[in-house]
Amino acid sequence: MCKGNSNANPYLGEKPSRKKKVDISEQGNQVIFSGRRKSKSRKKGERKPCTLLARCPENDHDADGFEMYKGKRTLLSWMIDWGTVSPGVKVQCMNHERTASLLEGRITSEGISCDCCGKVVTCADFKSHAGSSLGQAYENIFLESGHSLLQCIRESWSKQEKTDNIGFHQVNVDVAAGDDPHDDTCNICADGGELTCCDGCSSTFHHRCLQMEHEPVGYWRCVYCSCKFCGMAFSAEFCEKISEKASLSDDAPGTENAPGPDDTPYMDDAPGTDDATDTEENPDKKKVDPVLIDYMDDYERFRCYFCEEIFHTHCRSGKDAVDNHAADFSFCGRGCQKLYENLQKLLGVRHELEAGYSWTVLRRQDVVTDVVGNADSLEVLCNSKLAIALSLMDECFEPIIDERSNINVIQSVIYSCGSNLRRLNFQWFYTFILERGDELVSAAAVRVHGNQVAEMPFIGTRFTYRRQGMCRRLLTAIELALSSLNVEKLVIPAVAEVRETWTKAFGFIPLEESKRQEMKYMSMVAFPGTDMLQKPICMEGTTSTMGGEVSKPQLSL
Ligand SMILES: [Zn+2]
Ligand SMILES: [Zn+2]
Ligand SMILES: [Zn+2]
Ligand SMILES: [Zn+2]
Ligand SMILES: [Zn+2]
Repeated sequence: MCKGNSNANPYLGEKPSRKKKVDISEQGNQVIFSGRRKSKSRKKGERKPCTLLARCPENDHDADGFEMYKGKRTLLSWMIDWGTVSPGVKVQCMNHERTASLLEGRITSEGISCDCCGKVVTCADFKSHAGSSLGQAYENIFLESGHSLLQCIRESWSKQEKTDNIGFHQVNVDVAAGDDPHDDTCNICADGGELTCCDGCSSTFHHRCLQMEHEPVGYWRCVYCSCKFCGMAFSAEFCEKISEKASLSDDAPGTENAPGPDDTPYMDDAPGTDDATDTEENPDKKKVDPVLIDYMDDYERFRCYFCEEIFHTHCRSGKDAVDNHAADFSFCGRGCQKLYENLQKLLGVRHELEAGYSWTVLRRQDVVTDVVGNADSLEVLCNSKLAIALSLMDECFEPIIDERSNINVIQSVIYSCGSNLRRLNFQWFYTFILERGDELVSAAAVRVHGNQVAEMPFIGTRFTYRRQGMCRRLLTAIELALSSLNVEKLVIPAVAEVRETWTKAFGFIPLEESKRQEMKYMSMVAFPGTDMLQKPICMEGTTSTMGGEVSKPQLSL
């Protein structure tokens, strides 16, 4: 929040009255979203849980009709569930030239039952058992129909993609119908109540969560609308962009009655000296209401592709600066660029552990299909394993449905779905999976916010594998990966029941309020009624374990 001065940018809207979102009828109650508008409120009994709740393993059938999956979770069982392969059908491993069958077997949900020895083995083991060394198992194992298992995986993924709501989530409000464009959930603590609305985007906050003693007075823009480096509300070039964009549209809000420079005592302090010049050079600039201009819009040059924070180009200087004119994407510094590049290199690379366990990093990517219908194998395999990871998460947690948008939070996180609502923009989540052979055992969703911190809102293990050290295996792998990426700490939300497990068994410690404040620029997944815990990532001696730089991607899923 800034007081005006003579350099103020005059192109923005009239001073809005300080908005509060509070529903008096619910004040003082223990309801989670007391700031919700009356028109959208649901009866208490109908309210779906909006916080992190573990599923109860004793209930075979949950209240919402959820049925626990009994079998192993493998790509084969997933394909059987989609009906793209049938259990018992004959498969053969072909040589690389596809001229001769090397070995025959039959599909089961747990693996391929080998005709020669009767053992049920993983697809990769079946292929090496057949003596084939080239290429990838799913490409070399064929059904009698002539389809490879990879083609069946593609077919299953396209069915999954049509069923699940995957992709960018545009949360729209009907402003003309009087809907409040602002969010009804605090972006820091995920709770409702009396919220302060940003004048630059649709985000809302408790002023106490921002550690502001008082509610901001006058024109105010939130941390997401402020420069990552200097903390100043974004002005200058950014607002100019907004003006340009809005003036292109005939029905831009409030295009008449442009205030003169003297009418704007509530504007930002200008971070540079450009504003005054602009005022003189462009006296006809139109007034624009900046509220609800999506931060996702075309200001990519001022927004880091990876951490998604905005910055003044002149603030991002020194040796850390990247030449954004030469690059495809804009980064706030070398740190984010390196993180992005190294995480992309990790995608789909299987890291073998002891006793047949392995871990892999996944992130959903759009599948580009070529003219003959062949999609990129790595993407299809990553996406398909994510579908299985999502089923695993569904076994572990009750669904979390965002009340405002009806978005399924866990699904959006696992599929890395973006959104115009900052709070619901999950596009940089990566999913770490732990497998034993071909079977998915544990999964965790991790988002790296820069070299200081990564968050892990969800980690889950299938019921049959609980209390067997699976979570520890996966967590160790995640810490190793974060260490190789030079990320300093891992932050998790912990519900009261498992808090002690995290602190006593896994070495997490409470996150100090001062650290939480440092992280307020980062949009993190939060749940009402959970504590934030942190674990410092050990940096010593880990580079050798990972082989220094992370290895090149390969089709090794
Ligand atoms: Zn055999
Ligand atoms: Zn809050
Ligand atoms: Zn904002
Ligand atoms: Zn700045
Ligand atoms: Zn960045």
